[in-house]
Amino acid sequence: MSLGYDHLLSTCQSWFNNISDHRKSNKKISLADMLNSALAMFTFKYPSMLALDSGRMKSEDANLKSLFGIKNIPSDTALRETLDEVSPDVLHGLFGELFNKVQGEDRLKSYAVFDNHLICAMDGVQFFSSKSVKCQYCQQKTLKNDDVVYSHGMLGAVVVHPDHPEVLPLGAEPIQHQDGNTKNDHELNSAKRLWNRLWDEHPTQKFLHLGDALFANGPMIRHIEERRHSYLLNVKPDSHQTLFAHFEHPQNQHAYEHKKFTVKGEKIEAWFINNLPLNNSAGDVRVNFLIVNISDSKGKKTTFTWVTNIPISTSNVVKLSQYARARWKIENETFNTLKNQGYNFEHNYGHGYKHLANTLAILMLLAFLIDQIQQMSNKVFIQLIKVKKTRTRLWEDMRSAFKIKNFNSFKHLLEYLIANTIPKTKQKNTVKHIKSVT
Ligand SMILES: [Zn+2]
Repeated sequence: MSLGYDHLLSTCQSWFNNISDHRKSNKKISLADMLNSALAMFTFKYPSMLALDSGRMKSEDANLKSLFGIKNIPSDTALRETLDEVSPDVLHGLFGELFNKVQGEDRLKSYAVFDNHLICAMDGVQFFSSKSVKCQYCQQKTLKNDDVVYSHGMLGAVVVHPDHPEVLPLGAEPIQHQDGNTKNDHELNSAKRLWNRLWDEHPTQKFLHLGDALFANGPMIRHIEERRHSYLLNVKPDSHQTLFAHFEHPQNQHAYEHKKFTVKGEKIEAWFINNLPLNNSAGDVRVNFLIVNISDSKGKKTTFTWVTNIPISTSNVVKLSQYARARWKIENETFNTLKNQGYNFEHNYGHGYKHLANTLAILMLLAFLIDQIQQMSNKVFIQLIKVKKTRTRLWEDMRSAFKIKNFNSFKHLLEYLIANTIPKTKQKNTVKHIKSVT
């Protein structure tokens, strides 16, 4: 089995072929062709649907057909109208399908921590905001001057590891205004749906869930423990007063283990205690509480505070703090990459009246997952990123090549790019790389 673009895109094509078509008429262009076209747009990071739609070169047409299996290329308008009726729910399982391929190739061994857990970071992000464009799933906020702001956000779940730059999205859940009256209600309900789905899709996989203080409450922790997963969640003095009062009470100070470490130039000072009640209202929920001060090589000090159901000891406290801090990767390596490295996450590709905004965001995240898998396993892709210096440059060169030459596979395209980038003297080594690509 391979993890190259061609194999993963063909997995997406098979998935799209199995989605039932909601349309009663006007089915000249299949739903799969529509979904593949949108995925092609995000794979090549076209700045808009129109850029792919108008003034297409002959080679682009041929390449859309050969690389993405598209039989009939839809117009921009047809694509928007059709995908507006397609719920993002029908795409969620595809993340699991692609993830299982990575796992099947044994690529996640070095991501495993504590008895084969994978670290799963969860966080919310807003990707659309407008005072005029809206749909039935927009979140709404009324400003002081009575203006209404419409927005879309999603809660993403991403496998991370402190030692690896690659992150693997396991899925995402649109945050919907139907989920309650407050921003917190929206995120908590989205989180429950997302966790339930991940646990059902990966029944034998144990997760160490990272999240912010919002998720460190009784119902959410009970929910994680009922399904026998682990958590390492932020806590804050204002939202977790009982825990912090316990730590600050002079009589309890002796109960905390207090250890100091130096790791890679950082000074780590940790206090921890196991088996405390989370708070007064969820006294049955017992947590292990960890406070860590980290001073970097320049003397800058930061304090972190977490709760976990993993018993904390001198032997694992440093690891726990490293894993918990890997949560920043969902923001930096995932959402910021989508915003700033050519994916156009905040660009409005089309809003629609129902699902379009959410469905396109999920398709973009799928394209990102496929790219991350290449970065993890495809030697030609890794070398291309290295020589092009930035991903944005690679996407530009991919689009240029796509316009001028017919390719029979993605492998063919990447080989062409590398042969036209690397100076001839270095191509000997490149050929070896290309041959080793699976
Ligand atoms: Zn909307």
